[in-house]
Amino acid sequence: MESNKKWNLKNTYLNLPDCFYQKIQPTPVPNPKIIYFNNILAKKLNLEFLNNDTLITNYFSGNKLPEDSIPIAQAYAGHQFGHFTMLGDGRAILLGEKKDLNNKIYDIQLKGAGKTSYSRSGDGRATLSSMLREYIISESMHLLRVPTSRSLAVIDTGEKIYRESVNNGGILTRIASSHIRVGTFEYGRHFCSIKDFQSFINYVINRHYPQILNNKSPYLELLKITMEKQIDLIVDWIRVGFIHGVMNTDNMSISGETIDYGPCAFINTYDPKTVFSSIDRHGRYAFGNQHKIAYWNLNILAGTILPFISKDKDRAVQLVQDVLDQFPIIYSNKWCEMMYKKIGITKPIEEDKFLIKNLLTLMESYKADYTNTFAALTLDKSYIDSLSTSNDFNIWKKQWEKRIKNEKNSYQIMQSNNPIYIPRNHLVESALKNAINGDKEEFDNLLNSMSQTYNYDIKHDELQITPEGFDESYKTFCGT
Ligand code: AMP
Ligand code: MG
Repeated sequence: MESNKKWNLKNTYLNLPDCFYQKIQPTPVPNPKIIYFNNILAKKLNLEFLNNDTLITNYFSGNKLPEDSIPIAQAYAGHQFGHFTMLGDGRAILLGEKKDLNNKIYDIQLKGAGKTSYSRSGDGRATLSSMLREYIISESMHLLRVPTSRSLAVIDTGEKIYRESVNNGGILTRIASSHIRVGTFEYGRHFCSIKDFQSFINYVINRHYPQILNNKSPYLELLKITMEKQIDLIVDWIRVGFIHGVMNTDNMSISGETIDYGPCAFINTYDPKTVFSSIDRHGRYAFGNQHKIAYWNLNILAGTILPFISKDKDRAVQLVQDVLDQFPIIYSNKWCEMMYKKIGITKPIEEDKFLIKNLLTLMESYKADYTNTFAALTLDKSYIDSLSTSNDFNIWKKQWEKRIKNEKNSYQIMQSNNPIYIPRNHLVESALKNAINGDKEEFDNLLNSMSQTYNYDIKHDELQITPEGFDESYKTFCGT
């Protein structure tokens, strides 16, 4: 007999006032089948006892609950494209929290597990294809060493679900430090009593940033620390060429992890204006705009906590403004530091800023591939494109070579900051198409190559090439 004690789930979110969640069971599915199960992540989460298909299928389809689970949907609101609205987990159900091997606590959440009171007109379900997409991109982000929610399992529900076309239904099990968002603060401020909201904020501090508990002004400190985490995250996105695609306040986590993979994609050709999302018509969430949106979102977060900063409203505004005013300075410093590492500089001097700026200007005007340009510099080999064969670039490269001659460990620094592989849009689409039809080879190959993305010790004859014209017509959609 299997012992349910093995799950050892906690449900600390239930200690919050009940306006913050709805107790809700997953809706059973008719004919579940495992498509992916992440054994390595399962081990990390002390879930090794899930060693047979029936157990995995039953638990991760929501058809069977861990005995110590009290499943809930979390309430949140958010600004979507700048407009405030009530949201909440409309199709995600939190099974509970689990300690990993290092005693770190993670949410275990089923996405696509059925309707909740926050579903509005939605069906509470997700397509298998969008859940597999989240699996491959979130696991790739993890392998790229970017903070992210992770994916434990994908189940085909055996149900047909209706979008623009008929699709197989899917359930993704995702793992995150928590699913608390900027939008959860907006919900607390707008829809709960001030007392309940305060107990929520205290919970967040306890759960994510206990080191600030004894600070003189823990709420202001929470804003500072969240800002720093989100800045680090955006800088990391820029490092690997990631566009989140829908940085609404409800999709930005307080822990600073990438969450809510929807219309995200990676840039190939370097252009800060790049947008793939079909609904982002004005480029609000374009590649090079992401730090500005993070700042916008943090302003919203700051607004929610004002009553706890000072009884004097003007003083509270001044105090949070002083924190927010640091954003551009911290971002710019961290962005520069990251870019210096990409070109092997660890002890920057003032003029290095121009080295970066000139390289990016050249990359943009010669329409160079972002990942390949840095990987080729790291590999110290020429990668033939219009940038590398240009006179302009060769002048730049000579200056750069001269500059890094005296730097120690340049190549090691570049190797750990410049990925060789990214989940290229055309590869992801092709892998998904095949996986849906039962052929997982490309999907596995893509994940395997991602696991070697910083391995400069193996021989690289070829860098990844995007088929000509692919990106021009490539469109991504909100997780459906
Ligand atoms: P997202 O675009 O995935 O961040 O979701 C935005 C909001 O819509 C969240 O409140 C989701 O829970 C909700 N939502 C998205 N898809 C569905 C669906 N199929 N059924 C119910 N709610 C959904
Ligand atoms: Mg979302």
